[in-house]
Amino acid sequence: MAKKFIEGTEIVQAGFANGISTQLAEKQAIEGPEAALTEFEKHYIIEDAARAFGEFLTALGCDWENDPNSSDTPRRVAKAYVYDLWKGRYEPMDKITAFPSDGYDGIVFEGNIPVTSMCSHHHQAITGRVHIGYVPSKDGKVVGLSKLNRIVEQFARRGAIQEQLTVAIHNAVDKICEGNLGVAVMIEAGHNCVSCRGVKHQGASMKTAKLSGCFLNEDSARAEFYEFVKGYSCK
Ligand SMILES: [Zn+2]
Repeated sequence: MAKKFIEGTEIVQAGFANGISTQLAEKQAIEGPEAALTEFEKHYIIEDAARAFGEFLTALGCDWENDPNSSDTPRRVAKAYVYDLWKGRYEPMDKITAFPSDGYDGIVFEGNIPVTSMCSHHHQAITGRVHIGYVPSKDGKVVGLSKLNRIVEQFARRGAIQEQLTVAIHNAVDKICEGNLGVAVMIEAGHNCVSCRGVKHQGASMKTAKLSGCFLNEDSARAEFYEFVKGYSCK
């Protein structure tokens, strides 16, 4: 079964913290939506970002160049953004193999998918769990389970607000599981911008959910999803 590039998974304006980077958008405008940045192109982004982060530290009164613990920090931070923290902005979504559902039209559920993201507002960590359910139609498509984890990584590894991240994951699952009868996504997460700065409250968590199709319109499907979610808890 051939892997397929799924169109329509990017629903945020390119360049925004929760969208793809301007560099990737410019390349895709010329070469098409499957185009990816080369290591060389990523290296340039890291060089630029490292220079600017050094200036940021200088502005904060940090003599980083002479501090052995900070002298390579601008490069470390820039690399972490490109390869880990904002990885999903510099790479297109993986091609996905969707398989025929072979007559299965029950719920497919994966719970407790770890999510690590970063709030667009404060650049502080968001950590928690994602629960995803969908119902394929009898002649529709199902995906390999780990693809749901990969979808979470693709959209979480960016700047984010939890509300939009929930919608982005929902939209991608909906697009990939062609002919589905409903998709449900729930995120429970703690926000370091609440626990480490501002109000500084430890232990608060945020729940968001986006439901469509049968999960929105049928009490029994919605109840089944939340029954599956029960027992998992964010920490
Ligand atoms: Zn925040």
